[in-house]
Amino acid sequence: MTDSPLLQVRDLAITYYGGGSIIPGRRRSFDAVKGVSFDIAAGQGFALVGESGSGKTTIGRAILRLVTPSRGSIVFDGQDVTAFGRRTPLSFRRDVQVVFQDPRSSLNPRRTVRDTLMQVLKRHFGVAGAQAAAQAAELLDQVGLPSYHLNRYPGELSGGQQQRVAIARALAPKPRLLVCDEPVSALDVSTQSQILNLLADLRRDLNLAYLFISHDLAVVRQVADIVAVMHRGVIVETGPTETLYTQPAAEYTKILLASVPSLEPRRRARDAEIPGVQ
Ligand code: ADP
Ligand code: MG
Repeated sequence: MTDSPLLQVRDLAITYYGGGSIIPGRRRSFDAVKGVSFDIAAGQGFALVGESGSGKTTIGRAILRLVTPSRGSIVFDGQDVTAFGRRTPLSFRRDVQVVFQDPRSSLNPRRTVRDTLMQVLKRHFGVAGAQAAAQAAELLDQVGLPSYHLNRYPGELSGGQQQRVAIARALAPKPRLLVCDEPVSALDVSTQSQILNLLADLRRDLNLAYLFISHDLAVVRQVADIVAVMHRGVIVETGPTETLYTQPAAEYTKILLASVPSLEPRRRARDAEIPGVQ
């Protein structure tokens, strides 16, 4: 099985069924994803990029089993995810974790950082007490936060610190695939860069694979080996990151590249002068 990819998505299609339609007896439907295929190898950084509404989050949700595909297959580590039924195997619940855009709404405001991390450790590994507290401190260290943050509540942390805690929580079950859906979009530019560096380091150290979702081509460049460009529910181009930026093939990729101001050479040079960025 060493040759097969960690995640294999084939001809994935997802239709949302909305409320009523003006035609009696029919429900309004929307094809958000229309036959998408890609592979992610173990330890690989794979990015889905495209404008808002192109179907990126929907694909992430299908992999996390939050939405049911209307067609196609999702195979993780040789197991057909769409055939799991109601019970998600424990191994899959550990192996695939997620980091969302807004850490404020994804962290429980009434739990300290220690309690948040200890809860996950208990749920997945049954560890508690001093052992779990020690592991919580290790996780926090892994995301670059000193241990005194363990006693803090999310409201006492900055946006970047909150996102580090959300990443630590995602790492707690020792995942193999991390779905990161716009993980830095809510952060200011210098914090974005620090979080992206952290994600890049973690991938190397832990041999983690990423499905990295972003509307921002500049952001993706730092973390992805492979980039797939989405437009209106389909992938229009997939390629190694540098090739895609320097020799885009699809017209839509060219349009997307032209619309990213931070990829302009002048702006890039200016950004490089800001301390803490890069
Ligand atoms: P992206 O993450 O690329 O911005 P999404 O996957 O969130 O795109 O959404 C793709 C399309 O599906 C959008 O047009 C969106 O309006 C629609 N959509 C998303 N979620 C739902 C839903 N629960 N019901 C109906 N339509 C939805
Ligand atoms: Mg989205």
